[in-house]
Amino acid sequence: MSSNSGIQIPSRLPLLCTHDGVLLPGSTMRISVDTARNMQLVKSRLLKGTSLKSTIIGVIPNTRDPEHDSDELPSLHRWVCIVRLSWAHYCNLCFCLLSIGTAGLAVQVVGSNWPKPHYTLLITGLCRFRVTQLLRERPFPVAEVEQLDKLEQYTEGGQADGELGELSQRFYQAAVQLVGMLDMSVPVVAKLRRLLDSLPRETLPDVLASMIRTSNKEKLQVLDAVDLEERFKKALPLLTRQIEGLKLLQKTRKLRPDDDKRVLAIRKGGVFPGRQFSLDEEVEDEDGDDTAMLEKKVKAAAMPEAALRVCLKELKRLKKMPQSMPEYALTHNYLEMMVELPWSKSTTDCLDIRAARVLLDNDHYAMEKLKRRVLEYLAVRQLKSTLKGPILCFVGPPGVGKTSVGRSIARTLGREFHRIALGGVCDQSDIRGHRRTYVGSMPGRIINGLKTVGVNNPVFLLDEVDKLGKSLQGDPAAALLEVLDPEQNHSFTDHYLNVPFDLSQVLFIATANTTATIPPALLDRMEVLQVPGYTQEEKVEIAHRHLIPHQLEQHGLTPQQLQIPQDTTKDIISKYTREAGVRSLERKIGAICRAVAVKVAEGHKVSRAESPTEQHNTENKEEDSGIASPPEMPIVIDHIALKDILGPPVFEMEVSERLTLPGVAIGLAWTPMGGEIMFVEASRMEGDGQLTLTGQLGDVMKESAHLAISWLRSNAKTYLLANGSADPLEGTDIHLHFPAGAVTKDGPSAGVTIVTCLASLLSGRLVRSDVAMTGEITLRGLVLPVGGIKDKVLAAHRANLKRVIIPKRNEKDLEEIPAHVRADLDFVFASTLDEVLNAAFDGGFPAAVNHPQVVSKL
Ligand code: ADP
Repeated sequence: MSSNSGIQIPSRLPLLCTHDGVLLPGSTMRISVDTARNMQLVKSRLLKGTSLKSTIIGVIPNTRDPEHDSDELPSLHRWVCIVRLSWAHYCNLCFCLLSIGTAGLAVQVVGSNWPKPHYTLLITGLCRFRVTQLLRERPFPVAEVEQLDKLEQYTEGGQADGELGELSQRFYQAAVQLVGMLDMSVPVVAKLRRLLDSLPRETLPDVLASMIRTSNKEKLQVLDAVDLEERFKKALPLLTRQIEGLKLLQKTRKLRPDDDKRVLAIRKGGVFPGRQFSLDEEVEDEDGDDTAMLEKKVKAAAMPEAALRVCLKELKRLKKMPQSMPEYALTHNYLEMMVELPWSKSTTDCLDIRAARVLLDNDHYAMEKLKRRVLEYLAVRQLKSTLKGPILCFVGPPGVGKTSVGRSIARTLGREFHRIALGGVCDQSDIRGHRRTYVGSMPGRIINGLKTVGVNNPVFLLDEVDKLGKSLQGDPAAALLEVLDPEQNHSFTDHYLNVPFDLSQVLFIATANTTATIPPALLDRMEVLQVPGYTQEEKVEIAHRHLIPHQLEQHGLTPQQLQIPQDTTKDIISKYTREAGVRSLERKIGAICRAVAVKVAEGHKVSRAESPTEQHNTENKEEDSGIASPPEMPIVIDHIALKDILGPPVFEMEVSERLTLPGVAIGLAWTPMGGEIMFVEASRMEGDGQLTLTGQLGDVMKESAHLAISWLRSNAKTYLLANGSADPLEGTDIHLHFPAGAVTKDGPSAGVTIVTCLASLLSGRLVRSDVAMTGEITLRGLVLPVGGIKDKVLAAHRANLKRVIIPKRNEKDLEEIPAHVRADLDFVFASTLDEVLNAAFDGGFPAAVNHPQVVSKL
């Protein structure tokens, strides 16, 4: 805010057009520069130039208020001038010549690339200028200018006389009055008061207009007032308005001293606080209340000795800290966290094994094995009040009820339930918190969970432990180990809290889709309970006992309004979902409920057991006549309505349709999502004996393919595949493809399928369309056992296949499979590839009756 007298600006100035405000002489402003020309100007004039002259630029406000009064000549000129600046020198518009700006000195340039490249300039206004001629416009405008403020003429003779003198005196007094209303104890206000006396009077309108609250339009009027007298006249009402506003505010504050405790800023950015009573006093009061309250809470939180000591120490520090210190907030948050933790709050277990059995049975259909083990676990817990046993870990495909069983366990015990999702967690501070030295530090998920449930003995479900990640920020599995270890977890120390918290009363249950990716040390602490997928019949039962009633309730419907017959449920299961669990099934039922809810609400009728065309006509008629007949209750969802709501079936292609050519066989695969059927396809073409494999196969799978080819080549004669020459692959390339190419597949269990598929291709015979198989092969033609038999068999059953070929040594695994599924299927237990091929082709393989026994050759 220096006086601008004596400054001689260059006669040519680069022009910077601003949108964000009006720079007045004697004030300092931040300007954001992001347009191409302005950026060019900054780069070539401010970043390269070193002399003072080169850092003086002309700032032209390109600001126009929406309520702009277009009759006012100077503003109109400015507007037209700015819009036309780019071609002004062609037209030599006289408007342009009238354009007034402020010459400014760039005191700081800061560049940034975020969110887009831009500079921020700090510019101090020096004096007004007028554009006399636009010299060029690219890469940035440069103009011939005329300096307007010739301040010496006023300051020379000290005080001005006449009307101007009077005006300036009035203005000065008003300024003194305004500053007097502010809090003089604030250093910057005291400085302002001194400045008022030392600044030449003529600069006051500009300086004060830039400080008080004024619109850009008002500032523009002050800028345009080249004549000093006029400038005083324009600025004085603004000053008076500010004084009146301040008076009013102080009056209301006296009436309601509690409101608006914060300082009043007369300038954007709030540099000058104005208030009548001392700010410090008040903050002290509020502060005192706050810490006293915290202290009370600390004492009431019943925390252990060590934690209490830390809290009291922090409280003491807090009392000495000014509220404005960043550490105040940190400490305050920490103490708030500490008092909210359930150090000694717990629920009482109300375990009754008989009731627990009923509850588990009521909540879940099937899953007998799991329910039995959970009851055992609870029974032991009841007999032996502390349980330092293993952590239960439910492993199975999504949507088979793992989380839901966890929730039921909490209910049977009468405990709070909290789910901690671990999928994708790769930073150990997620579990154990951040140290308080970091900005934004916070406790880990365990402590946060405890705060949420508000008791220290909840059931914590650690969801998806198989999806824990690892990163440079430490191994979260290691932190989990400490949480789960009964020897250590009574003094679990979260980095944020930095005092031990006793987790020994928490009941942990984990869930996972597969054990393969659970870190071994963690797996070692857990007892794995497999939760396999459901059969179609089980799904129908689950749907009718649990999912449908639940969804009806969720959508505000009753069984009197909506009925889904069993046949429809079967259709949904087989044609719209293909999953081991029941999650999509539940979603589809939800979709039906939504559709029906709309119909019920609209008073329309959903498709009924009538013929589709008839129904269509009726609906049309209703719509045409504009009369909505009330829906006939209950609305029954038949297969036509199902198609209407869910669209055409997603999985309708019959398996047999895909087996109409030689060179296709159905394998059974296991994935963390449950069992699946998998088509293996092969084709041959002329070539030199190359094997191409596609479908994202792992190394083991590729080896199986090579094994299969080698075995077939070596046994080509036996199986009549040679077709004259000795090697069936002579002059032939083979391409093997495993569809669903986006999913990586690996494992040895596709061996028998590949052999069957190739045998079909080479012999030109079709594989039976109702047979699926699994098994590892050896080079000598033996079939070795594989895993996941139950899920695989269920997948074959889901796909309506009739015969399943599995390795002989897997026969014992069939015990786990429900009897009705077993009854539906014809199992072939194979120990050699010969047996596999014989079972896979109608009439045996090769078709000749008297084929030699391969087994005898081994
Ligand atoms: P997961 O945790 O295994 O992925 P959820 O527990 O979230 O699966 O189950 C998905 C939905 O299926 C829930 O609404 C659950 O109640 C229901 N559900 C799953 N299995 C059963 C079952 N056996 N009986 C009743 N409902 C079940």
